[in-house]
Amino acid sequence: MDISTAQHALKQYFGYDRFRPMQEDIIQNVLAKQDTVVLMPTGGGKSICYQIPGIISQGVAIVISPLIALMKDQVENLKANGVPAAYLNSTLSYTEMREVEEDLIHERLKLLYISPEKLLTSQFLDFLSRVYISFIAIDEAHCISQWGHDFRQEYTKLISLRQRFPDVSFIALTATADKATRNDIAKQLGMTDPRMFISSFDRPNLSLRVEAGQKRIEKILHFLAERPNQSGIIYCLSRKNTESLATKLRNAGHNALYYHAGMPANERARVQEGFIKDDIPIICATIAFGMGIDKPNVRWVIHYNLPKNMEGYYQEIGRAGRDGLPSDTLLFYTFADVMQLRDMVGESGQSQLQLSKLERIQQYSETRTCRRRILLSYFGESLEKDCGNCDVCRNPPELFDGTVIAQKAMSAVIRAKREMNKSLSAGMLIDILRGSRRIDLIRQGFDQIKTYGAGHDISYDHWQLYLQQMLNLGLIEIAYEHHNTFRVTKAGENVLMGKFPVNFAKLSQFKETPSSKAPT
Ligand code: ADP
Ligand code: ZN
Repeated sequence: MDISTAQHALKQYFGYDRFRPMQEDIIQNVLAKQDTVVLMPTGGGKSICYQIPGIISQGVAIVISPLIALMKDQVENLKANGVPAAYLNSTLSYTEMREVEEDLIHERLKLLYISPEKLLTSQFLDFLSRVYISFIAIDEAHCISQWGHDFRQEYTKLISLRQRFPDVSFIALTATADKATRNDIAKQLGMTDPRMFISSFDRPNLSLRVEAGQKRIEKILHFLAERPNQSGIIYCLSRKNTESLATKLRNAGHNALYYHAGMPANERARVQEGFIKDDIPIICATIAFGMGIDKPNVRWVIHYNLPKNMEGYYQEIGRAGRDGLPSDTLLFYTFADVMQLRDMVGESGQSQLQLSKLERIQQYSETRTCRRRILLSYFGESLEKDCGNCDVCRNPPELFDGTVIAQKAMSAVIRAKREMNKSLSAGMLIDILRGSRRIDLIRQGFDQIKTYGAGHDISYDHWQLYLQQMLNLGLIEIAYEHHNTFRVTKAGENVLMGKFPVNFAKLSQFKETPSSKAPT
């Protein structure tokens, strides 16, 4: 199909004149019935990528979404724009469900939103085999991966769709997925040769800042005083915290309310409404707040507590500055939060993965290199130069040439892999570099590799901090799927071959609380 048909539909149903960069390529791929993976930040315009092909293709597009609460809004918006769409989930009555099924049979729908639970009943699948499906879109696709931050069991069963409808192509969309997750998405969905569209996650209008969490209230009051009448969100870890913080802010004369999932639905709706309409500028909330809120003029986001992982952090700060105007973010970092989050992780399943994710945000918080570089490298992107809009860039540390140090570490990782077929964790790597006599190292023959002991003059703690900088610079990465061992990236190989020098921050500048221990 011709892209001008898509353009025409964009104008007719959404009133937009042109596609955003990438939307057009994605749509062409979907129209060509190719498997597609889309990674685009929230607000980037993912929906159009399946809505337009759905509208102009023959048959009905199935849109799988776990967010039942948002389905209705989306479908109503589409209908208001003249798009024949419907949704099916547990909130519908029997009669309503029958009506949708009637519409499907009579080919009256272009888009069907559905929850995975509803879709994957054998009854419904039988029914669907009588319907012509144009393609299947999987929204919030990171839910399918154990490496993601919001794994959902019911999503793993989506693979059965591939077997059931082998000729139907998939488009998987997500706003948050690191490299391991995005490859896993394709694998879990049985995609053989998908095209991946990864749009930039950079939000240069958001300033990034991390501060020590001592005297948080004082610092917040100061922050607010500098920003009278601006809208913002303060994310807290606990429900109780949102309430007490809102009270403190009100007592200090600020118009603040709280929001969390423990409140009655009508109360929550009232707070959200007030925020969107600019009646209430400040909301103290748990992470339950913000999903599906499309408020362009949120001027700042504060994290009262450390988020659990980079994905969450990125998503939450991303609620600021949707209109593209300068907006500020501030994260409070305390070691107490790290410990509390560690305990919470310990109580959940999959603790090893969650712990490494926590370690990454801890490293982000402690870094003395450009924060935006770290944030973007987490999502597999690299910036050409430091951003100039984070606290580290504004107040830069002293640097020195760390090329040789970095080369030693990367050489050890590569040699262990090449010569012994072993992947190294941080602890192992440092022990090898330092020439440790650890019995298991010797027994496995690590003392035979050339870089054994090459870094004995650097202490264990300092090695940890250098490795952290290397991670942050994108020279090495962590393979979660291989017991959190290191891998050397393309950028790292270039440094190893002497193509580029590496600058490290002098360690005397690391004043923050030291990390509790190396990732194991
Ligand atoms: P996402 O699902 O990636 O968070 P949405 O699909 O909700 O993003 O789109 C975010 C906003 O951008 C919506 O208001 C949408 O209407 C708007 N938008 C999407 N594509 C375009 C476009 N080509 N031109 C103008 N606005 C667009
Ligand atoms: Zn920076």
